[in-house]
Amino acid sequence: MASFPKSEFIWFDGKFVPWDDANVHVGTHALHYGSSVFEGLRAYNTPGGAAIFCLDPHVDRFFGSAKMIKMPIPYDHAEIRNVIIETVRANKLDSCYVRPIAFRGFGGFSLDPRKYPVQVAVFAFPWGAYLGPEALAQGVDVGVSSWRRMAPGTFPAMGKIGGQYVNSSFAAMEANDHGYVEGIVLDINGYVSEGSAENIFVMLDQVVYTPPLGSSILRGITRTAALRILRDLGYSVVEQNIPREMLYIANEIFFTGTAAEITPVRSVDHVSIGSGSRGPITKQVQDEFFAIVQGRAPDRYEWLTYVNAIPAQKIETRVSVPK
Ligand code: PMP
Repeated sequence: MASFPKSEFIWFDGKFVPWDDANVHVGTHALHYGSSVFEGLRAYNTPGGAAIFCLDPHVDRFFGSAKMIKMPIPYDHAEIRNVIIETVRANKLDSCYVRPIAFRGFGGFSLDPRKYPVQVAVFAFPWGAYLGPEALAQGVDVGVSSWRRMAPGTFPAMGKIGGQYVNSSFAAMEANDHGYVEGIVLDINGYVSEGSAENIFVMLDQVVYTPPLGSSILRGITRTAALRILRDLGYSVVEQNIPREMLYIANEIFFTGTAAEITPVRSVDHVSIGSGSRGPITKQVQDEFFAIVQGRAPDRYEWLTYVNAIPAQKIETRVSVPK
């Protein structure tokens, strides 16, 4: 962790503490069984200061994931929203990544942890392009993973739940071992699902395809943003099952994600996609997306929350209430 870009404060169970003091007990339930939910948000450095992208959809998804695992978060939507804003502000960050997490703390080792405390933390740190600085312009080389996404009825794929990321981690490690920047994971039926932390869009003959929620994907917030941009640009966009072989004959492919933003894919399994570099539709979506999030174009979808425009909130010290 030597090179990790730590910031000063982490909000942890109701108050700000120094980064190095935000620690947990080794008996923490989530450490053993993956009983956590989390979010990943980005703030952009705009002419109006730090602006958080899609704050409310992220907070909604956070509560939705917690609901799926029957874990009541001892704060409400407005409190978590404020804490996210105040965490960016307290650390004097502009362009950064924000990570809220809620998890079952120590209470015992039962697989029914509903009597154990729920702990909540929000931290933020400076962050650049996730898949490398060249990725946004040049595209990335990826491979189809030998791992499958969790089957329906095994894990709630629509939730951003800690334990499920063992699956994503397998895909990421395998991709790196094979020299790829990222892996594409298929669903249990062999259809394209998503990257280890990205949704995927595939363009073929002027139609844009993206896997449906039934393909074990996370309902990505950048995915929703890209769908809006594409539809407003006049493209036909369909959410339907994507056979693996469609990847190889696609004109263009791109990933979407908070970390990956809009990243072109230039090869899959060493097969060159389209022209072998960023395609024109991908470029158009990137141009629209970055112009809005960087505050260079009107925020026509109301995606941005300007940290400076929100009056500073007093963050009260609260004790998390075991339920
Ligand atoms: N799929 C998975 C498994 C992810 O972890 C992420 C990152 N949150 C995404 C897709 C992209 O979602 P979003 O655009 O909301 O970041």
